[in-house]
Amino acid sequence: MRAAAKTSLDSFLRRRHGALTEDLVLRHGDFGLGKVPLRLKPDNTTNVVCGFCSTGCGLNVHLRNGQAINLTPTTDYPVNLGMACPKGWEALNPLAADDRATTPLLRYADGNLAPVDWDSAMQIFSLRFKTIQDKHGAASVAFLSSGQIVTEEMAFLGALAKFGMGMIHCDSNTRLCMATSAVAYKQSFGFDAPPYTYQDFEESDVLVFIGSNLCITHPTMWQRVLRNQNNPEIIVIDPRKTETAMAATQHYAIQPKSDLVLLYGLAKFLIERDWIDSPFVQEHTTEFEAFKEFLLRNGGGEANYSSPDQSEAPHVGAFDLENVSRVTGLSVAQLQRLAESIHEGKRVSFWWTMGVNQGHEATRTAQAIINLALMTGNIGRPGTGANSVTGQCNAMGSRLFSNTSALLGGRDFLKPGHREKVAELLQLDPRSVPAENSWAYDQIVEGIANARIKGLWIIGTNSSHSWINQSEFNRLAGKLDFLVVQDMYHTTETARLAHLVLPAAGWGEKEGTFINSERRIGLVKKVSKAPGEALSDFNIFKLVAHYWGCGETFKDWTSPEAVFQILKTLSRGQPCDFSGIEDYRMLDEAGGIQWPLPEGWAGQSPADRVTTPEADSANGAHRSDSPSPSRERRLFSDGVFYHPDGKARFLFETPRALPESPCDQFPFLLLTGRGTSAQWHTQTRTSKSDVLKRLYPEEIYVEINSSDAAVLKIQTNESVEISSRRGRITGRAFVTFAVQPGQIFIPMHYAATNQLTFPSFDPYSRQPAYKACAVAVAKIKLRNRTAHNRDRTHSPRIQAERKPHGSRNR
Ligand code: SF4
Repeated sequence: MRAAAKTSLDSFLRRRHGALTEDLVLRHGDFGLGKVPLRLKPDNTTNVVCGFCSTGCGLNVHLRNGQAINLTPTTDYPVNLGMACPKGWEALNPLAADDRATTPLLRYADGNLAPVDWDSAMQIFSLRFKTIQDKHGAASVAFLSSGQIVTEEMAFLGALAKFGMGMIHCDSNTRLCMATSAVAYKQSFGFDAPPYTYQDFEESDVLVFIGSNLCITHPTMWQRVLRNQNNPEIIVIDPRKTETAMAATQHYAIQPKSDLVLLYGLAKFLIERDWIDSPFVQEHTTEFEAFKEFLLRNGGGEANYSSPDQSEAPHVGAFDLENVSRVTGLSVAQLQRLAESIHEGKRVSFWWTMGVNQGHEATRTAQAIINLALMTGNIGRPGTGANSVTGQCNAMGSRLFSNTSALLGGRDFLKPGHREKVAELLQLDPRSVPAENSWAYDQIVEGIANARIKGLWIIGTNSSHSWINQSEFNRLAGKLDFLVVQDMYHTTETARLAHLVLPAAGWGEKEGTFINSERRIGLVKKVSKAPGEALSDFNIFKLVAHYWGCGETFKDWTSPEAVFQILKTLSRGQPCDFSGIEDYRMLDEAGGIQWPLPEGWAGQSPADRVTTPEADSANGAHRSDSPSPSRERRLFSDGVFYHPDGKARFLFETPRALPESPCDQFPFLLLTGRGTSAQWHTQTRTSKSDVLKRLYPEEIYVEINSSDAAVLKIQTNESVEISSRRGRITGRAFVTFAVQPGQIFIPMHYAATNQLTFPSFDPYSRQPAYKACAVAVAKIKLRNRTAHNRDRTHSPRIQAERKPHGSRNR
C-alpha cells in the first residue's frame, strides 16, 4: 500500500506531461533569445523605443502573430546596449490592465459616467466646446497634454487646436519637468538644444551631477557612467545622499536651493584663479565681462536660504567662498576641492535634472551651469557639455513640435516671419496661426479660477495628481463647464472628474516617434491591439478634426508616418533639421538618429563622430548596405551657437530667497523627487505591474534624519503626520542619514504628496518649484491614530484612493 502511494505521489510530483510541466520545458527561442518557455516562443521580434523615461532604450519585443508576448532589452540599440530598468522590462503589463478605458464615457445628469459610441462622443465634444467658444471666446477652451505621446500626435494636436479649433492656450505636462532647460538653452545658445550624446558619459574624466539622482531616475544612463574607463571623478551636488551620491567620488550636500549661489561662487573662484578657457570665451561667447563684473562686485541683494535655524539665515552680498560656504552649508575647503576638480578635469561634463529644473530660480540656475561649461571650454568636445537630462520619453518631441510654448519646429509665435513660414509649409491662412504666446500650465489653471477658461481637454496626463497645487486644481476642475479627459485608463484621478472620457491606445498600441534626451529620434511601433473601442490619440485627433469641421485643413495628416514627413519639412533649415531622415524604415535600421540630420548628410565629413568605426561595427551599426549616419553626434564641435552672431551668451541674475522658508510652525523643508526606478510619475501604468509594485512600499513614506527623529521620538515605520499650509497627510517614517537635519523627503509618486507642495514658479520657464516648501512633522500617537484612521476612512479622497488608480504619465 505504502509503495503504491509513494509511486502515485512520485508520478504526481514528477509528471512529465500536463500544463505545468509544459511551462517548465524550455525551447530555443530563436532570434538570439536563448531558451524560452513554449508559451513565450516568438515567431518574430522587433525593436521599439521604451515609453517611460527620456533615456529612450530600445526594447526587443517578442511577437507571435504580430502581437507582443514578451520583451527583452535590445542588445545592439546604441542607447542601452542590452540594458533596461524594471519599468522597461515590465512595459507590456500595463496594457493588459482591467481598468483600461475601452469605450467613450459620458457623465449623465445622475452624476455617473456611462458608455456612449464614438459618434455621440464626438458630436458632444464639438457641440460643448463650440458652445463655450461662442459664449466666451475661442480662447476660453484650452488643452493640457503630455510628453508621453508620440511626436506626430503632439504636432497633430497642437496644429488642430491652434490652427483648426481656434485655441490659444495649450500646454503640456512637460512644463512640470523640462520647461526650464528649454528656456535656458534657448536664451544661452539661441535654440533649445541639449548638446550631448550618451557616449559622453563614458568619455568624461569629471562628471558633475547637479540635482540629479541618475541611478534612480535614468538607470540606463547611469550604467553608461559605470562603463566609463577613465576612472572619473563623479561629483554629486544634492541636498540628499541619494543613491547616485552614495556611488559618487565626491558628494556635496548643499542646503536646498542654494545651488545658484554655489555655482556663482565656483565661477568667481575659477575667474580669480584664472582657470578660464579665455580663447574659447573670447571667440565663442558674449557677455562674459558683464558676468565677471557681476560676480566680482558680488551680485548685490540679500536673501536667506533655507537654513534650518533662521537666526543663522545667511545674507548673500558676495560670492566669495566664505559667504558661499555660509549659504550652502559646505566648508570652504569643500568648495575649493570642487572648483579644483572642475579645473583639473580635461573633459568635464555637467549634468542636471529636476533638482535644478523644479526651482524658483531654475532658469538662471541652469544657465549658471551652462556658464561654467562655457567659461572652462567644456563644450563641443567628447566627454564635455552642459547637459540637461530630460524627463519623459518624448519631452524633447514636445519641446519642438507640440505647438504649445513654441511654434512648430522650435519657432516663435511672436515672429511674423515664423508664422508665415509655417502657414506656407502647411498651406494655411496665415491668420489662423496665433500671433500670441499660449499661457503656461499655471496660467491656464489660473484662467479657470478667474473664469476665462471654461472648457479643458486633458490628454494623457493626470493633473489631479501631479499639479503642484493639487487641491486647488481639483477644486477648480469642478468649475469647468466641460472637461474632457483622453487617457488609457478611466480610473485616473483626473478621469474621475471628467464630463467626457475618450479611451486612448497606449505605448505599444500605436506608431510614431519619440525624441530622447540626446536628441535621438526613435521609432515606436504597434505591437499590441488596443482594447475595446480605444483608438490611438492620432485617430482621435483625426475624428475631432472631422467632427469640428476642419478635416480639410488636415487632409494630408493621414497617418503618423505621413505627419513625420510633414515634420521633416517643418524642421528644414531649423537647428533641429532632420529632413535627411528618409522614413521610419531608415530610423529603424539606423537604431534611431540624432537631430540634426539635414538633407545631403551622406556627403558630409564625419567630423562629429565620437565612436570609432570599429566601435560602430561592434555595436551593430550599418545593418543595411546604404550609408548610415554616425550613431553618436554632439553639437557645437565647431564652437558655433544658434544666436545670429554664432556666440553663446552668459546669463545671470541676483539670487532670490526661497518662496517659502521654514518657520516655527512649519520648521522642516520638504524635498520631493523620484523614489525608485520601479515607479513612474503618478503610477498610472507602473501600478498595474505586480512585479514593480513589489519593488517599493505601497504606503507613502517619509525620509527623516535620525537626529530629528530622536527629538520627535519617531522610529522607522511609525505613522507620522506631515502638514503644510496647504494640506495634511500621513505616512510611515523612514529614519535615515540620507536627508539632512531639518529636511524630509517624500517621493512624488504618491497621490498625497502634492497636497503639501507650494505653488511657486520660475519666472522665465514657469516651471513649478516642487523641490522645497515648509512643512511640520509630528508622530501620530496610538490613541489619535485610531480616530485619525477612522476620519480618513470616511473621507471621499481616501475612498477614491482605494480604487485602482494611476495615469500613464505625470
Ligand atoms: S524607463 Fe527609461 S531607463 Fe528604463 S527601460 Fe525605459 S527608457 Fe530605459
